[in-house]
Amino acid sequence: MRSFPQAGGCVCGEIRYVLRDDPVTVYACHCTDCQTETGSAFYLSVVVPAAAFEYTRGTPERWDVVLPDGREKGSFCCARCKTNLGGPGSLENLASVDGGTFDDTSWLVPAGHIWTRSAQSWIQLPEDSLRFETAPGQEGFVSMARKWKSSAP
Ligand SMILES: [Zn+2]
Ligand SMILES: [Zn+2]
Repeated sequence: MRSFPQAGGCVCGEIRYVLRDDPVTVYACHCTDCQTETGSAFYLSVVVPAAAFEYTRGTPERWDVVLPDGREKGSFCCARCKTNLGGPGSLENLASVDGGTFDDTSWLVPAGHIWTRSAQSWIQLPEDSLRFETAPGQEGFVSMARKWKSSAP
């Protein structure tokens, strides 16, 4: 069920947030960086308008690192339990929230799957989802946003 606001937070409860409006899109990233960083099989990204997202308890800590190949990566996490909550996002006025941190995750059905070439072999992608072998690019991102909007709220 897709209704707003939707709340979420870290595993220890120190940080809480609220999302007041529909995301721009939701996608799963199967790249190896995301697998390593999350310690899981993929990353579930909820791209939201920055203006619709607000922390309601605690102040998250920002971390920034330079990967061995020179790329930069950053996110916000709880200073106490280190749960990652999301990043500033690569586009202006958008933020990325880590999908698994929402209290209710049942409505987070990815509109697209990116970096599918490194997806775990046992993952079966839904027939009707958008797929990108590597990075989706601007055009791919727009198509994932369109698909999310067209899915029933
Ligand atoms: Zn915490
Ligand atoms: Zn990734």
